[in-house]
Amino acid sequence: SKQNGRGTFSFYASTLNDRLLAYRGLVEDMRRGLAAGEFFLEYQPRFDTRGRSVRSVEALVRWHHPERGRIGPVDFIPIAERSGLIMPLGEWVLRTACQAAAQWPAIGVSVNVSPVQFHNTDVAELVRRVVEETGFDASRLEVEVTEGVLLEDAERARNALGGLKALGVKLAMDDFGTGYSSLSSLRSFPFDVIKIDRQFINDMEDRDGGREVVQAILGLGKALGLSVTAEGVETVRQLTMLTADDCIEVQGYLLAHPMSLESVSTLLSGGGAG
Ligand code: C2E
Ligand code: CA
Ligand code: CA
Ligand code: CA
Repeated sequence: SKQNGRGTFSFYASTLNDRLLAYRGLVEDMRRGLAAGEFFLEYQPRFDTRGRSVRSVEALVRWHHPERGRIGPVDFIPIAERSGLIMPLGEWVLRTACQAAAQWPAIGVSVNVSPVQFHNTDVAELVRRVVEETGFDASRLEVEVTEGVLLEDAERARNALGGLKALGVKLAMDDFGTGYSSLSSLRSFPFDVIKIDRQFINDMEDRDGGREVVQAILGLGKALGLSVTAEGVETVRQLTMLTADDCIEVQGYLLAHPMSLESVSTLLSGGGAG
């Protein structure tokens, strides 16, 4: 009904309904797109600050939609997580990344694994199966998780992360510093790598104490024996500061954007970044 201030409600209701329809449409599209091979990976290199060599690449998923064109993960990962499609999508990402990286000499590959995957599947068993199928060396694989995975069901997370470690897989805490319990999580779970969230890197140059915060995280990594990666490095000045502060690994648009499989191969064989 549309009378006496109820108009707001009916407007809202129809908006919700529209959104539900849009959501269902997207889920259907994703299901179809997965079967049709519309998803693809790009790889963003992670560089050594000392030699400027590529240490590893991070696999990042994209969707080439037949009508809407290219869609980035922030616009479909949440829908995949809500609908359960993250399970087949996440498995596809893992397999595709391992197949690709098996062709490259020596460098590692990292894959983002959603908390929803940890919650609903045995991620260690999935990884075991995929490395077996692809012949990829598990010690060259790194799994990136956000602390969300640790908070929901700590015991389950501990088992899964322990299972991954037993395979030789490295564990990275992604978006470090953005959550509430990054510090305690670092001690209670077997991480190898801290990825400093790009917000902190962005703040290095233009906020009071921004650089000191990053220095403190670098010191924390050192004290705990963890490797630290700075994400989202966009300026020469940030890179200079990070190098001076003994940050060993950097990732960001300044050095390389996420790129195609072919561009990674070119980069690794000594060509320019894509
Ligand atoms: P993330 O894991 O934190 O990945 C880093 C994001 O920052 C990527 O965005 C990357 O393209 C972007 N980035 C890299 N360097 C820079 C920089 O210098 N400046 C700025 N502003 N951004 C930079 P992308 O590819 O859009 O991915 C967004 C998020 O989507 C990822 O954040 C990750 O949480 C999620 N995601 C991507 N691929 C996957 C996947 O295969 N599985 C899951 N579960 N999540 C994924
Ligand atoms: Ca990541
Ligand atoms: Ca991140
Ligand atoms: Ca800035």
